[in-house]
Amino acid sequence: LAKQHGRNTYEFFAPEEDRLAVANGERLLSIGRAIETDELRLLYQPILNMRSGVVQAFEALVRWRHPERGLLEPAAFLPDIESNELIHGLDQWVLEHALRDYRRWDSSGRPLKLHINISARTLMTPGCMQDIARLVRSEPGLRPKTLVLEIIESAALDGLEQVGSVVLQGELLGVSFALDDFGTGYSSLTYFRRLPARVLKIDRSFVRDMLIDQEDRDIVEGAIGLARAFGREVIAEGVEGVDHGVRLLHLGCELAQGFGIAAPMPAEAVDAWLDAYRAPADWTQFGCLM
Ligand code: C2E
Ligand code: MG
Ligand code: MG
Ligand code: MG
Repeated sequence: LAKQHGRNTYEFFAPEEDRLAVANGERLLSIGRAIETDELRLLYQPILNMRSGVVQAFEALVRWRHPERGLLEPAAFLPDIESNELIHGLDQWVLEHALRDYRRWDSSGRPLKLHINISARTLMTPGCMQDIARLVRSEPGLRPKTLVLEIIESAALDGLEQVGSVVLQGELLGVSFALDDFGTGYSSLTYFRRLPARVLKIDRSFVRDMLIDQEDRDIVEGAIGLARAFGREVIAEGVEGVDHGVRLLHLGCELAQGFGIAAPMPAEAVDAWLDAYRAPADWTQFGCLM
């Protein structure tokens, strides 16, 4: 009976597993195709120095214009590809297209930096930093100094040392790095300690409730203190309102990104947005008092 039961179970589950594997394979195939057929899009979100009111950078954020499902955010497709080769293709696509978009703003004479998300997996592929440096050099007018690579990590890294040496290599070439989503998942103190990234981005989950939750506020304050002690720049993610900014300035964090400044926008919208944007007076006035 047991044997029969086992066989039934097997017969029941095997097709199901096959079906899942096929569905999975199809999803991956269609992402691969999306990369090749330019179904991906980039949006850009500003990073503001709240004290001076000057926009210092834009971060490129990828979207997938899915033929049936509409505009997809990374949460809908990145998890599928983060653990396989496709992430390299995506990172490469984003790099090329973001550098191309950047040309437009560069010609307007504004000294803007460009932040690009890159998975730690991609950084670990041999020759990655050389490829990036070559790409940067092939863009007329683009200097390595303008590029900030945000290291994103969704799994424990075997090669933390390796990523660390890639970061040093990059810094020698003039490219800088940011540790993304600090305080969540694998973006931990160990990573902070081992990756000599020049910039720390405090995850938006701590910033969101910092006005109502003392513990989140303490974590944000701690992260700012840590960054300062190690001579790193710090950027707060998820700044949704003026009060967030005021509190962050009090805590010593000047750089911010979030819907309270602007939502991610298409490349074509950046110039007009920059012309029209005025930082909230509460922030810049606070800067004068300091
Ligand atoms: P991230 O790098 O931490 O990017 C910030 C995310 O927070 C973006 O989500 C952005 O739209 C969102 N955000 C910005 N301001 C606010 C705010 O005030 N409130 C709230 N609630 N959210 C805000 P998005 O675009 O969905 O990206 C999610 C993640 O996907 C990114 O997190 C990054 O880890 C990854 N990602 C995005 N673009 C790329 C890419 O081109 N390559 C790679 N490898 N990963 C990417
Ligand atoms: Mg990022
Ligand atoms: Mg982040
Ligand atoms: Mg984040």
